[in-house]
Parts: sequence; structure tokens; C-alpha cells
Amino acid sequence: MQKTLYSLIELQEIDLNLDKVEEERGDLPSIVEKIKTTLEKKKTLLIEQKELITKLKVDSKTIETELGSLKVQLKKYETQLYQVKTNKEYDAIANETENVKKKIDDLENMIIESEEKIENLTKSNDQIQFDIEKLSTDYDENNVALQEKISASSEEENLLKNEREIVEKKLTNQQINAYQRIRSAKKGIAVAYCNGGVCSGCFSFLPPQKVVEIRSMKKLYHCESCGRILVWDKNKE
Ligand SMILES: [Zn+2]
Repeated sequence: MQKTLYSLIELQEIDLNLDKVEEERGDLPSIVEKIKTTLEKKKTLLIEQKELITKLKVDSKTIETELGSLKVQLKKYETQLYQVKTNKEYDAIANETENVKKKIDDLENMIIESEEKIENLTKSNDQIQFDIEKLSTDYDENNVALQEKISASSEEENLLKNEREIVEKKLTNQQINAYQRIRSAKKGIAVAYCNGGVCSGCFSFLPPQKVVEIRSMKKLYHCESCGRILVWDKNKE
């Protein structure tokens, strides 16, 4: 058991050093990730809006063709209007003329609306393009800084990870799992020292009998109030 407890102490030390390596990278990993996500969203939006502009332009062409033939038809009706013989015929053609005029109005309004939409989308795309360029520069700068930090500490990180693997082999899966569980629940500290009769993790007092038992390092004790594994601090002797 003594060996297990010392291995757990070792594991805790290694993990705290790994935490430090991670901390030195600071906010950079999350900043880089955030910029990347925003950048991807903007790029997708730009593509979507460009496609929409193309579609609006194609639709406008179709409408313009239709307008062209309606205008031809209108001319035809207007000529016919002068050649009619009866009132009935006149009314019929006048009615058709009104219908065509209304259709032409509607289609012309559709083209105006479509042009407005295209104008707004083009403006919006210019802004997005500007944002994308700015974000790309931000991304590159932050990513270079992050990669530099990673490579500066990667050697240390690899050494620590190797040490960790060696220590892990000295422990059972059950012990490692319990350690991990406490570590993630208790702010990264799974192993606490008994310092002057107090748990170094939560500062609660330990019964004197328990202090004696912990000192012997013969059994795995958990702090009754915080649940951390309690070990004896040799340096305090
Ligand atoms: Zn405690």
C-alpha cells in the first residue's frame, strides 16, 4: 500500500506540472478555436449570399424576357384598339390591355425589388469579405503564437506524459479511475497531505487517531469532508 500511495503522490505531481504546461498556453487555444469557428461561419454565409445573388439575377432575366413579350403584346392590343368595329370588341380589347398593363407593372416591381435585394446583399458581402480578411489575419497571428508556445513546451509535456505512463503502470485501473474522479471533482487535486492534523485540500481537522494511521502510510484513507486521498507529508517531519 505504501508503494501505491507514493505512486499516487507522484501521479498528482506530474498532473500538476501538466496543468501548468496547459496553463502557460493560456487563452490562446480557445481564442484560436473561436476565431476559426467565426471565420467558417462568415465564409459559409458569403457563399450562400453569393448564390442568392446569382439566383436573383437569373430570375430577373426570366422576368425581363416575360416583360419583353408582354410589351409586344401590349403594342399589338393598342394597334388593334384603333381598328375595332364594334363597342363589344373595343371593350374586350381594352380589358385585355388593362390586364397586360397590370402584369407589366407587377413584373417591373418585382425587378425593382430584386435589384434592391441584390444591392443590399452585395453591400453585406463586401462587409463579410472585409471581416473575413481581418479574421484571417487574427487567426494567423494567434495560431502562430499558439504553435510557438506548444512547440516550446512540447518537450516538457512529452517527458511528463512518459513519466505519467510509467507511474500509471504501478497502479490498478480502479485506483487510477478513483484518482481521476476525485481530481476532476476537486479542482485538480486528488491527493491531499495531512498537515498539522489538517487536510491540505479542505483544511478540515482530522481525528488524532486518523493522523497516526495516515502517518503510517499503510492504508488508503479518504478525507471525510472533501473525499481526497490523504497521505503523510514527509517534509513536515
Ligand atoms: Zn479534505
